Amino acid sequence: MAMANQRLTGQDPIPGLVEAVLVALGEDPGRQGLKATPDRMARALRELTDGYGVTPEDVIAGAVFDQDYDEMVVVKDIPFFSLCEHHLLPFFGHFHVGYLPKGKVVGLSKIPRLVEVFAHRLQLQERMTKEFAEALAGALEPKGVGVVVEARHLCMEMRGVQKTGGQLITSCMLGTFRRDPRTRAEFLDLVRRT
Ligand SMILES: [Zn+2]
Repeated sequence: MAMANQRLTGQDPIPGLVEAVLVALGEDPGRQGLKATPDRMARALRELTDGYGVTPEDVIAGAVFDQDYDEMVVVKDIPFFSLCEHHLLPFFGHFHVGYLPKGKVVGLSKIPRLVEVFAHRLQLQERMTKEFAEALAGALEPKGVGVVVEARHLCMEMRGVQKTGGQLITSCMLGTFRRDPRTRAEFLDLVRRT
Protein backbone atom coordinates (compact mmCIF):
# COMPACT_ATOMS: atom_id res chain seq x y z
CA MET A 1 0.00 0.00 0.00
CA ALA A 2 1.09 3.56 -0.71
CA MET A 3 1.21 4.58 2.94
CA ALA A 4 3.45 1.69 3.92
CA ASN A 5 5.87 2.55 1.14
CA GLN A 6 5.94 6.16 2.19
CA ARG A 7 6.80 5.16 5.72
CA LEU A 8 9.53 2.78 4.60
CA THR A 9 11.22 5.41 2.47
CA GLY A 10 10.98 7.91 5.30
CA GLN A 11 9.20 10.46 3.16
CA ASP A 12 6.00 10.81 5.12
CA PRO A 13 5.25 14.55 4.96
CA ILE A 14 2.79 14.47 7.86
CA PRO A 15 5.22 14.88 10.81
CA GLY A 16 6.63 18.11 9.36
CA LEU A 17 3.15 19.45 8.76
CA VAL A 18 2.06 18.59 12.31
CA GLU A 19 5.10 20.41 13.64
CA ALA A 20 4.06 23.49 11.63
CA VAL A 21 0.59 23.26 13.17
CA LEU A 22 2.10 23.10 16.68
CA VAL A 23 4.13 26.23 15.97
CA ALA A 24 1.07 27.98 14.53
CA LEU A 25 -0.81 27.16 17.73
CA GLY A 26 1.88 28.96 19.72
CA GLU A 27 3.52 25.79 21.03
CA ASP A 28 7.18 24.88 21.24
CA PRO A 29 7.50 21.62 19.30
CA GLY A 30 10.94 21.13 20.84
CA ARG A 31 9.73 20.78 24.42
CA GLN A 32 9.90 17.32 25.93
CA GLY A 33 6.23 16.40 25.85
CA LEU A 34 5.81 17.42 22.21
CA LYS A 35 9.06 16.14 20.74
CA ALA A 36 7.65 12.87 19.47
CA THR A 37 4.16 14.23 18.84
CA PRO A 38 4.50 14.86 15.09
CA ASP A 39 5.65 11.29 14.51
CA ARG A 40 3.04 9.88 16.88
CA MET A 41 0.25 11.87 15.27
CA ALA A 42 1.37 10.83 11.79
CA ARG A 43 1.29 7.17 12.84
CA ALA A 44 -2.12 7.60 14.44
CA LEU A 45 -3.53 9.33 11.36
CA ARG A 46 -2.15 6.64 9.09
CA GLU A 47 -3.70 3.95 11.25
CA LEU A 48 -7.06 5.72 11.48
CA THR A 49 -7.23 6.12 7.70
CA ASP A 50 -5.86 2.74 6.67
CA GLY A 51 -9.18 1.89 5.03
CA TYR A 52 -8.08 3.76 1.90
CA GLY A 53 -6.97 1.38 -0.81
CA VAL A 54 -8.64 -1.62 0.83
CA THR A 55 -11.58 -2.92 -1.17
CA PRO A 56 -14.51 -4.90 0.23
CA GLU A 57 -13.27 -7.80 -1.92
CA ASP A 58 -9.90 -7.72 -0.10
CA VAL A 59 -11.76 -8.25 3.17
CA ILE A 60 -14.50 -10.61 2.17
CA ALA A 61 -12.80 -12.75 -0.48
CA GLY A 62 -12.47 -16.32 0.72
CA ALA A 63 -15.10 -15.92 3.42
CA VAL A 64 -18.26 -16.05 1.31
CA PHE A 65 -19.90 -19.45 1.53
CA ASP A 66 -22.72 -21.05 -0.41
CA GLN A 67 -25.37 -21.75 2.16
CA ASP A 68 -29.00 -22.63 1.78
CA TYR A 69 -30.14 -20.41 4.63
CA ASP A 70 -32.85 -17.86 4.02
CA GLU A 71 -33.52 -16.35 7.44
CA MET A 72 -32.34 -12.91 8.40
CA VAL A 73 -28.77 -12.63 9.69
CA VAL A 74 -28.23 -9.76 12.13
CA VAL A 75 -25.01 -8.60 13.75
CA LYS A 76 -25.56 -5.95 16.40
CA ASP A 77 -23.43 -3.48 18.31
CA ILE A 78 -20.33 -3.55 16.16
CA PRO A 79 -18.16 -0.74 17.56
CA PHE A 80 -16.42 1.68 15.22
CA PHE A 81 -14.24 4.77 15.44
CA SER A 82 -13.92 7.20 12.56
CA LEU A 83 -12.83 10.76 11.80
CA CYS A 84 -15.28 13.30 10.41
CA GLU A 85 -14.10 14.76 7.16
CA HIS A 86 -15.11 18.28 8.17
CA HIS A 87 -12.99 18.63 11.31
CA LEU A 88 -10.84 15.47 11.48
CA LEU A 89 -12.34 14.90 14.91
CA PRO A 90 -13.58 11.51 16.07
CA PHE A 91 -17.07 10.20 15.69
CA PHE A 92 -17.78 6.78 17.10
CA GLY A 93 -20.55 4.40 17.99
CA HIS A 94 -22.06 1.20 16.70
CA PHE A 95 -23.17 -0.47 13.50
CA HIS A 96 -26.14 -2.80 13.41
CA VAL A 97 -26.13 -4.90 10.26
CA GLY A 98 -28.69 -7.27 8.82
CA TYR A 99 -29.09 -9.15 5.58
CA LEU A 100 -31.38 -11.71 4.05
CA PRO A 101 -29.22 -14.28 2.25
CA LYS A 102 -29.89 -15.54 -1.24
CA GLY A 103 -27.63 -18.60 -1.29
CA LYS A 104 -24.53 -16.88 0.11
CA VAL A 105 -23.43 -15.98 3.63
CA VAL A 106 -20.27 -14.31 4.86
CA GLY A 107 -18.07 -15.36 7.78
CA LEU A 108 -19.25 -13.36 10.77
CA SER A 109 -15.84 -11.96 11.67
CA LYS A 110 -15.70 -10.29 8.26
CA ILE A 111 -18.55 -7.91 9.00
CA PRO A 112 -16.70 -5.97 11.75
CA ARG A 113 -13.63 -5.99 9.53
CA LEU A 114 -15.67 -4.50 6.67
CA VAL A 115 -17.02 -1.86 9.06
CA GLU A 116 -13.43 -0.89 9.85
CA VAL A 117 -12.53 -0.51 6.18
CA PHE A 118 -15.15 2.20 5.79
CA ALA A 119 -14.71 3.75 9.24
CA HIS A 120 -10.95 4.09 8.73
CA ARG A 121 -11.33 6.86 6.17
CA LEU A 122 -12.31 10.48 6.53
CA GLN A 123 -16.06 10.14 6.59
CA LEU A 124 -19.53 11.49 6.82
CA GLN A 125 -21.72 9.16 8.84
CA GLU A 126 -24.44 9.26 6.20
CA ARG A 127 -22.06 8.25 3.41
CA MET A 128 -20.30 5.63 5.50
CA THR A 129 -23.64 3.96 6.25
CA LYS A 130 -24.58 3.83 2.57
CA GLU A 131 -21.13 2.75 1.35
CA PHE A 132 -21.06 -0.10 3.83
CA ALA A 133 -24.57 -1.29 2.92
CA GLU A 134 -23.79 -1.18 -0.79
CA ALA A 135 -20.50 -3.04 -0.31
CA LEU A 136 -22.20 -5.83 1.61
CA ALA A 137 -24.97 -6.00 -1.00
CA GLY A 138 -22.38 -6.14 -3.78
CA ALA A 139 -20.39 -8.90 -2.14
CA LEU A 140 -23.26 -11.22 -1.15
CA GLU A 141 -26.00 -10.30 -3.63
CA PRO A 142 -28.53 -10.99 -0.88
CA LYS A 143 -32.26 -10.35 -1.02
CA GLY A 144 -31.73 -7.28 1.09
CA VAL A 145 -29.45 -5.39 3.46
CA GLY A 146 -30.23 -3.16 6.42
CA VAL A 147 -27.71 -0.99 8.24
CA VAL A 148 -28.28 1.31 11.21
CA VAL A 149 -25.42 3.41 12.60
CA GLU A 150 -25.60 5.26 15.92
CA ALA A 151 -22.77 7.63 16.74
CA ARG A 152 -21.54 10.52 18.85
CA HIS A 153 -19.65 13.28 17.09
CA LEU A 154 -16.94 15.04 19.06
CA CYS A 155 -16.90 17.91 16.55
CA MET A 156 -20.38 18.75 17.79
CA GLU A 157 -19.91 17.89 21.46
CA MET A 158 -16.47 19.40 22.11
CA ARG A 159 -17.16 22.57 20.20
CA GLY A 160 -20.27 23.40 22.15
CA VAL A 161 -22.67 23.21 19.22
CA GLN A 162 -24.41 20.37 21.01
CA LYS A 163 -23.29 19.57 24.53
CA THR A 164 -25.88 16.95 25.26
CA GLY A 165 -24.08 13.93 23.89
CA GLY A 166 -26.97 13.17 21.56
CA GLN A 167 -26.48 10.48 18.99
CA LEU A 168 -26.80 10.81 15.26
CA ILE A 169 -28.65 7.84 13.80
CA THR A 170 -28.41 6.97 10.12
CA SER A 171 -29.75 4.02 8.20
CA CYS A 172 -29.64 2.47 4.77
CA MET A 173 -32.12 -0.16 3.60
CA LEU A 174 -31.63 -2.03 0.33
CA GLY A 175 -33.67 -4.65 -1.52
CA THR A 176 -36.34 -6.34 0.60
CA PHE A 177 -35.35 -4.20 3.60
CA ARG A 178 -36.44 -1.19 1.59
CA ARG A 179 -39.43 -2.72 -0.21
CA ASP A 180 -40.98 -4.92 2.47
CA PRO A 181 -42.15 -3.17 5.64
CA ARG A 182 -42.26 -6.50 7.51
CA THR A 183 -38.64 -7.30 6.77
CA ARG A 184 -37.60 -3.82 7.80
CA ALA A 185 -39.69 -4.02 10.97
CA GLU A 186 -38.21 -7.42 11.87
CA PHE A 187 -34.70 -6.02 11.47
CA LEU A 188 -35.38 -2.87 13.47
CA ASP A 189 -37.06 -4.91 16.16
CA LEU A 190 -34.00 -7.18 16.47
CA VAL A 191 -31.74 -4.12 16.59
CA ARG A 192 -33.77 -2.48 19.36
CA ARG A 193 -33.98 -5.60 21.48
CA THR A 194 -31.39 -5.55 24.26
ZN1 LIG B 1 -17.15 17.27 12.06
